[in-house]
Amino acid sequence: MDNCIFCRIIRGEIPSVKVYEDDDMLIIKDVNPQAEIHLLLLPKEHYANIVEMSDAQARTLAACIKKLSGMVDELGLKDGFRLVSNKGANACQSVEHLHIHILGGKPLSEKMC
Ligand code: 5GP
Ligand code: ZN
Repeated sequence: MDNCIFCRIIRGEIPSVKVYEDDDMLIIKDVNPQAEIHLLLLPKEHYANIVEMSDAQARTLAACIKKLSGMVDELGLKDGFRLVSNKGANACQSVEHLHIHILGGKPLSEKMC
């Protein structure tokens, strides 16, 4: 998607702090962290949200999350973490490219959006 900010990050057109990358996903640091550790798991394939996800995309995303579970130590998440994916503006989704928030450590904010 030409103007999608996360597609542009994935293509390297916009800088980001990359934590992990493979053929299916990119994990970056959130530019506006809401917790001590706030990462974003971005599937490389563009789709807006979990409702628009195809079965094949769901399988790929599940495999990405499974891979994440093996990276807990290197990501500094061994004391626990939350995974959050917002769908729609009413649920605080601001970027229409599916992403999973990975939140660890102390919250830095109580705000929902
Ligand atoms: P949403 O509100 O859609 O669930 O989450 C979007 C997230 O993307 C927000 O936490 C926001 O801080 C983050 N974000 C937006 N633009 C950028 C960017 O250009 N770079 C990075 N690293 N994060 C971004
Ligand atoms: Zn995109």
